[in-house]
Amino acid sequence: MAQLELLFLGTGTSAGIPMIGCKCDVCTSSDPCDRRNRVSIRVSYHNTRVLVDTPPELRLQCVTHGVDWIDAVVYTHGHADHIMGLDDLRRFNAIRQGPLDVFADLKTHDVLTQCFGYAFRQPDPASRLFRPHLVRRFIDGPFEIAGVRWTPIRLLHGDSPVLGFRVGDLAYCTDVSRIPDESYALLEGLDVLVLDGLQWKRHTTHFSLDEAIAAAQRIGARQTLFTHIAHGLGHAATNRLLPDTMRLACDGQTVHANL
Ligand SMILES: [Zn+2]
Ligand SMILES: [Zn+2]
Ligand SMILES: [Zn+2]
Repeated sequence: MAQLELLFLGTGTSAGIPMIGCKCDVCTSSDPCDRRNRVSIRVSYHNTRVLVDTPPELRLQCVTHGVDWIDAVVYTHGHADHIMGLDDLRRFNAIRQGPLDVFADLKTHDVLTQCFGYAFRQPDPASRLFRPHLVRRFIDGPFEIAGVRWTPIRLLHGDSPVLGFRVGDLAYCTDVSRIPDESYALLEGLDVLVLDGLQWKRHTTHFSLDEAIAAAQRIGARQTLFTHIAHGLGHAATNRLLPDTMRLACDGQTVHANL
């Protein structure tokens, strides 16, 4: 059976870990898994590579993890920790010598246009190398990238509706504090679930780890990996406390699922 690969480019919450100026045990840890860039993943299948979100460290993430080709970009939502690396996409335009499709819902495209309107205009030849060349694709239901279906999963991030995605038997649901009942129906039979699991303490716009574990148990994926991790969760110590099928993800980790 065909497989897809997910590469974690970042697994950290919006401040990143280590946080600026914090001397806690996790922010000063020598475990490489306790260094977390802002969240992004690359999904690969056949000869296609899709980037989900463009966080502030995008350039360093791509250089570190050997990401040198992208066919399309998909956005979960328009928060700063998910979009602020957008300008680095210009390197992928230069490498492919052509435009890149950017899939997002209406609200996220509005934010991208406010912050990076120049990136969606047809570039003149003189500035072709110095700014991105992106093409808006609006998500209003399932869509295809290179013949593979991407199903948007409606999630609530506090009061804000945001998107998760299902591709084959993989689902990626970052930045969520509540999964609507109708979205659970789209998450049946998963190989791999990636889910927001910020910290043990309750939070208004993210699942706490207890809430994430309960949601993951209801979904029942073969394997669940938590992301958008804050500095309250040391990687090794937290993993020892989790159920067998669940772990914290780590920057640079790859995982495979049926397509
Ligand atoms: Zn976020
Ligand atoms: Zn800290
Ligand atoms: Zn967010």
